[in-house]
Amino acid sequence: MSYKLYIPGPVQVSEKTYRAMATPVVGHRSKDFVALFQSIQPGLQQLFYTQDPVYISTSSAWGVMEGSLRNVVKKKVLNCCTGAFSDKWYDVSCRCGIPAKELKYEWGTPINPEDVRKELATGEYDAITIIHNETSTGTMNPIEALAEVLKDFPDVVSIVDTVSSFSAMKIDKDALGLDVMLTGTQKALAIPPGMALLSVSQKTLDRAASIEGRGYYFDFIEFQKNYEKGMTPSTPVIPLIYALKSKLEDIFEEGLENRYARHKRLNETVRAWIAKNGMELLPAPEFGSVTLNCIKNLREIDLPKLNDALKTKYNCVIDGGYGKLKGKAFRISNMGDETDETMAELLAALDDLVPQFAAK
Ligand SMILES: *Cc1c(COP(=O)(O)O)cnc(C)c1O
Repeated sequence: MSYKLYIPGPVQVSEKTYRAMATPVVGHRSKDFVALFQSIQPGLQQLFYTQDPVYISTSSAWGVMEGSLRNVVKKKVLNCCTGAFSDKWYDVSCRCGIPAKELKYEWGTPINPEDVRKELATGEYDAITIIHNETSTGTMNPIEALAEVLKDFPDVVSIVDTVSSFSAMKIDKDALGLDVMLTGTQKALAIPPGMALLSVSQKTLDRAASIEGRGYYFDFIEFQKNYEKGMTPSTPVIPLIYALKSKLEDIFEEGLENRYARHKRLNETVRAWIAKNGMELLPAPEFGSVTLNCIKNLREIDLPKLNDALKTKYNCVIDGGYGKLKGKAFRISNMGDETDETMAELLAALDDLVPQFAAK
């Protein structure tokens, strides 16, 4: 059972990455591990566009999404909610017993920076969560405009999820002044699931140091203490660190600008296919993601049947809609290692099958 994934996470993993994972593990307190950890830092800092350390967490992204709340919120957090993942973040705040308010939008509508300004101006908040690329709806929030607003509120720690956009486009953490920027491995990085990366500002560490009950596993102060020794607080998922090292080689061999341009081009190829086939994006096109497209199912395609046929005839799958969008929208990823050829293969398969399963 092996078929190609065009779903927006986990995405297809290359043979080279899988081979890297088969490298024998070393002790996580050994000099060899420290050398491995330190060897990937410059590349990671370059991808985060930061001078701050980049921590490695053995967890999926949710681990550090929850951990961030527990490390920085003393007063109240503003959770900006525009889709399944960002809505869930508010739920997680509540489950942690952290005072929170949701700034809620229709799915597919991006965050309005002026709404954020109005909320933060109340002085009630000391943290905000933003999902840069809301994967469930293929909507990209205006991070530059949001960052401009945040600069007027220096006491608010910003927590920004870049899980499905990191490394596919430039997100300049330091220039934007983001305090916590986090990502997972199985989306835009095209590494198997199980690891998260995060970079935090000094302001964030100062805040964390003043908070009791941060716990241990996701304690930013523990991450920092161990980082200074070239290590992680607990035994990390070493095979995924080998995979990350291999992926960083791929990324810098391709070149960042080429990588960004490739994602944009492939995304536009899919958008052209959508228009040609009489459908539209869920979000307004200017807020559409560059790493996936979330497409309104205007032709009433039987998506489960389409996916079954894609799998049996073409050995690949797309996504049939997330959560309440199931059946109403479908998503096609162009993350990770996709190329002009792999996207053309998928679109040719869809050209064959969509007419068979579309009601309109
Ligand atoms: C997938 C995703 C997550 C959750 O990642 P896990 O690895 O399942 O914890 C969070 N945020 C965004 C934007 C995502 O796409």
